[in-house]
This record gives sequence, structure tokens and C-alpha cells, in this order.
Amino acid sequence: MAVPPTDIKRVKGQGFLLNRGTENFSGRIITENGVLTAAQMRCLSEAAETFGSGTLTFTSRLTVELPGIPYEKIEDFKAFVAKEGMVTGGTGSRVRPVVACKGTTCVFGLYDTQALAKEIHDRFYVGYAGVTLPHKFKIAVGGCPNNCMKPDLNDLGIVGQRVPKFNPEKCRSCKKCSVETSCPMKCVSAEGGQPVFDDSVCNNCGRCLKACPFGAMEETETMYKIYVGGRWGKMTRIGTPLTRLFTREEALNVVEKAILLFKSKGETGERFGNTVDRLGVQKVEKMLVSDNLLKRREEILEQETIGGASC
Ligand code: SF4
Ligand code: SF4
Ligand code: SF4
Repeated sequence: MAVPPTDIKRVKGQGFLLNRGTENFSGRIITENGVLTAAQMRCLSEAAETFGSGTLTFTSRLTVELPGIPYEKIEDFKAFVAKEGMVTGGTGSRVRPVVACKGTTCVFGLYDTQALAKEIHDRFYVGYAGVTLPHKFKIAVGGCPNNCMKPDLNDLGIVGQRVPKFNPEKCRSCKKCSVETSCPMKCVSAEGGQPVFDDSVCNNCGRCLKACPFGAMEETETMYKIYVGGRWGKMTRIGTPLTRLFTREEALNVVEKAILLFKSKGETGERFGNTVDRLGVQKVEKMLVSDNLLKRREEILEQETIGGASC
């Protein structure tokens, strides 16, 4: 192997992963929120043919990898993709590339998932790029409780919510209630003439909000459900949902507080789910709801952390 192990490690930290059995690397392009422009795609296609094997592969974290790049072409490759505003990365014990479902255009989407993912990318992938954590920290953004992006299997997952609000004064007690028939969870019963909602089953998908032709269902603001400590892979843990829903701004603050909590309380080599279990879910939720972690941000960021991510 002509490339020394220290250089293999160094370029891995920049998003270049050794291709098994070769001396070439895959350059991992960060898409920020899973969206690339046509010009960026053209640039990547050209880069694949100029520097790599001529192929592009798409990862489960919505990054694009271009395999077959020789070590000596890495710097030229970086400069080439930078012309279209793209960078490589996405490795190490830090905030990893943010993933979002296509809730921006999906008929079931309750908000613009790609816009939220971009904001999280800017604030916490770019903003915390130099911050070493005890392990990797994955964030997923989902547009509705269909959970296509599996937010609950990420260290932190966000799911859009619309809580149904019924106005009995506008209800005309129809023979067949369209609110009842619209609910995919079958948690609405209109047997008594007016719809009754079973909150223990309702997942706040919002499908019933436009179902009543007489306006008995009121439009409600999008709220955000947050799961903490999920993971999938060698070991699995379904994320723990926090007990209340959050506004968009509050949700962004919870993301930051969770990263700060992981940095300050996590132990080298453990994922956030282990930290949550070790500290106790109730204590973690209390910390994520209060503003103490944000007040201690500078102090926490100065703390030395040894990262334990090996992949
Ligand atoms: S989670 Fe909901 S909004 Fe997102 S892609 Fe799936 S169905 Fe659409
Ligand atoms: S909620 Fe609307 S559709 Fe259902 S019974 Fe009342 S008026 Fe009719
Ligand atoms: S929000 Fe969704 S699950 Fe809840 S009652 Fe309405 S349609 Fe059913």
C-alpha cells in the first residue's frame, strides 16, 4: 500500500473512504438536505468521469459517493466540486449529515422538511463541524408520522405533527362523518353523531383536518415530535419520544441542547441512546426542556472530548 495509514486516516476525516482492496477512495459529497441542483449533478457526473470510476453511488444518509479516486487526485477533486458549492465530509465523532424525507413535496408532508434539514445542516453540521463528540450523532427530519425516514432510529429524530381540533358548534351531525372515514388510524368514532377522538391512538397525522365540509375541524399549527437516543446497526434502540410537542424554534433549540448534552455527559464510544439510558429518560427530558445547557454552551464546547466513532 503506497498511501501511509496516517494519510488514509487523515483523508477519511475529510470524507474520502478507502475502496476495499484498492488504493483508491470514494469522495463523500454532502448534499446538506438531500437536494442537489441540476448544475451540481452535472458537476458530479463530470467529476466522476474525470477523477473517479465514472459512477456515483447514493448512501442511506443522502450523501453521494464517487468511488475510484486515486489519493493524488483528492485535492483536485475537492477544488472541482467546490466550484458548484459542494464539499466532502460526513465522517468521525461529530454531527453527521442530516437526512430528511421528501415532506417538502409529499402529499402527506406537514411542513417543509428540506428547509428544516437545511437549517439544521447550517446550524449544527456546519456550525458544530469542529466539535468532537463521544460518538457520531445522526439527525433525521420526517414530515409526518408515516416515518419514511425513520427518525426514531436516529440519535435525534423530528416528526411533523398536527393535533386535531374539533369545533362542536360547527358540527351538523351528518349521517356519515367524513372526519371519521378520513382517519387512517381508525381512532375517530362518530357513532353518537359527532366525532370523538381517541388521543391514545391518534398520531397527529393531520389527515382529518380538511375532511369536514362544514369547517368543524380547525386548522392547527404544525408542531414537532422529538425522539432521542435512537440507533440502528450493530446494536439497536428505538428513540424515546419526548413527552410534549415543540414549536419549530423550540425543536431547533432541543437539537442544540441534545448535542451539548451528549458532549458534556456522553462517554467516549457510547451513542446518545446509551447516554440517555445511563442518565435516565426523565432527567434527560428535563435537561432538554430547560435552557441550562444553552447557557453553558461556551463552557461545554471548551471541554475536551475523545471521539469513539470507528466508522
Ligand atoms: S414521512 Fe410523511 S411526509 Fe415524509 S415522505 Fe413519508 S409520507 Fe411523505
Ligand atoms: S365533523 Fe363535519 S363531517 Fe363529521 S359529523 Fe360533524 S359536520 Fe359532519
Ligand atoms: S390526526 Fe390523523 S390519526 Fe389523529 S384523528 Fe386525525 S386523521 Fe386520525
